Amino acid sequence: MRLIMLGPPGAGKGTQGAMLARALQVPHIATGDIFRQAVKEFTALGRKAQSYLERGELVPDEIVVEIVLERLQKPDCGKGFILDGFPRTVKQAQALEEFLHKEGNALTGVILLDVDPEVLVERLTGRRVCRRCGATYHFQYMPSRVEGRCDECGGELYQREDDREETVRHRLDVHESQTRPLRDYYEKRNLLYVFDAAQPIEGVFVEIMEQLGRGQL
Ligand code: ADP
Ligand code: ADP
Ligand code: ZN
Repeated sequence: MRLIMLGPPGAGKGTQGAMLARALQVPHIATGDIFRQAVKEFTALGRKAQSYLERGELVPDEIVVEIVLERLQKPDCGKGFILDGFPRTVKQAQALEEFLHKEGNALTGVILLDVDPEVLVERLTGRRVCRRCGATYHFQYMPSRVEGRCDECGGELYQREDDREETVRHRLDVHESQTRPLRDYYEKRNLLYVFDAAQPIEGVFVEIMEQLGRGQL
């Protein structure tokens, strides 16, 4: 299973990606998580990426592509992977395609989480993330059992710097101009599977799993 989660910020890529990875037993590779971890650890990558993340701009393609292709060569990707937040530009998609082709592999499909832009601001500004393990919550739509604490590891929940309303609006614009063209890109390759991501979390998951079960994805 080599899957891509596509959709605007807040559509539910991370949430569904984590659930799918657990169900399918493949790694969930989220570029945003990789960058946030690097920033936290003050690595060379973190220093390069930080200002882009803070401003809600895309990290340059060369940097992202190198990190992702390196990750995809790790042994745990042998059974497949779920890419979340990558690719975000046509250049990134082309680099991925070329890499997989060289390995004699192809994508299984691209899961597009489709949702009206109006709900996204509310989802993103209400998002809370575990400082320790990165698990994602929503104060209203997916609250943790104990307020402010992660269900998985007990870590502290915080609001991402870039989930404040002003940066959120900019990230949505960046998505429109740079990432939306990927719909056409994958549609043309017959790889695009569209899901209604306005439904509750469980409903989206069930629809994706049903499609996978029917072998149609
Ligand atoms: P993305 O990775 O696409 O940016 P997330 O998976 O982090 O999106 O989800 C954004 C926020 O919206 C999170 O707080 C998450 O808990 C919440 N969320 C995700 N899917 C849904 C849904 N179907 N309905 C309501 N809230 C959702
Ligand atoms: P969201 O969950 O809202 O879609 P992510 O966690 O995926 O956001 O990404 C957070 C930030 O990390 C982006 O705003 C961008 O700065 C950087 N980033 C993540 N993935 C990529 C990518 N594929 N290309 C460029 N920048 C990226
Ligand atoms: Zn946690």
